[in-house]
Amino acid sequence: MSIENGGFGRFSQKGVRELLERHGFRFSKSMGQNFLVDANIPEKIVRLSGIDASCGVLEIGPGIGSLTMPLSRSAGKVTAVELDGRLLPMLHEVLVGCENVGVVQGDILKLDIAELVSGRMPGLRHCVCANLPYNITSPALTALVEAGVFESLTVMVQREVAWRMCAKPDSPEYSAFTVFIAYHTEPEILFDVSPECFMPRPAVYSSVVMLKARACRLLPPEEEASFFRVVRAAFGQRRKTLVNALHAVFGNSMTKEDILKIVVGCGFDSRIRGETLGVEDFIKLSSHFF
Ligand code: SAH
Repeated sequence: MSIENGGFGRFSQKGVRELLERHGFRFSKSMGQNFLVDANIPEKIVRLSGIDASCGVLEIGPGIGSLTMPLSRSAGKVTAVELDGRLLPMLHEVLVGCENVGVVQGDILKLDIAELVSGRMPGLRHCVCANLPYNITSPALTALVEAGVFESLTVMVQREVAWRMCAKPDSPEYSAFTVFIAYHTEPEILFDVSPECFMPRPAVYSSVVMLKARACRLLPPEEEASFFRVVRAAFGQRRKTLVNALHAVFGNSMTKEDILKIVVGCGFDSRIRGETLGVEDFIKLSSHFF
């Protein structure tokens, strides 16, 4: 067991408070700053992520390095992208001796992610491991998944977002975002984390989710745009039937009868609602909407 556990180590409540005070640091809400102050959690995240020396890991928002440290011990290399320049002196202090970590100051939403990981960590299997800033969870995950270069993504998110990512069809949490995640990856909730493990304490529970990238694409790249157009249309008006929801978007080029024929032809009930369809169903359906 790590000596950082309990009330003493650098990443305990006391250790983090001391570091932040010494550097005169104030938390920024707009940057989604909630730092882990329980060293067991980052250790557990890294252990369950399966990251080893063959991995080049991209971390988003290292903060003061609570997760970066155990990543450095397990991974081949770590690239940590941090937006808040005020954190860099603290990060450098904490990461002394972690030779395999590179810190990049920048906004994950503005960087070329594929270029960043191949440039900084060539020859390694690429993975993401991060306690994501909650205010940019969806756009960050979208960019990370769409980069198409990661074997797995292990991320801590708000618990409700984790439910949305892993939702089953016809449940209240099931959304176009769920289908996006399920199209590209196989998601699994690993464990929940209580607000007490953070400083400052967030109002919500968190969950650690692991997304394993699918070994092969479900559709050729040129068919993906129409797939996601159909998915967005189906969820655009949740209380409508699938036929009416699709007609609201594709009505310019297709009659309701055309759409009804397609829906029934795919083997679905004419009154079915879009949110009952799984990824495979959307694939079947979208091949008729080019
Ligand atoms: N990983 C740390 C900190 C998590 S808080 C821990 O678990 O303790 C989220 C971190 O993301 C903060 O350090 C915040 O400054 C950083 N951040 C916020 N927006 C970002 C962005 N767009 N790109 C990169 N980092 C960002």
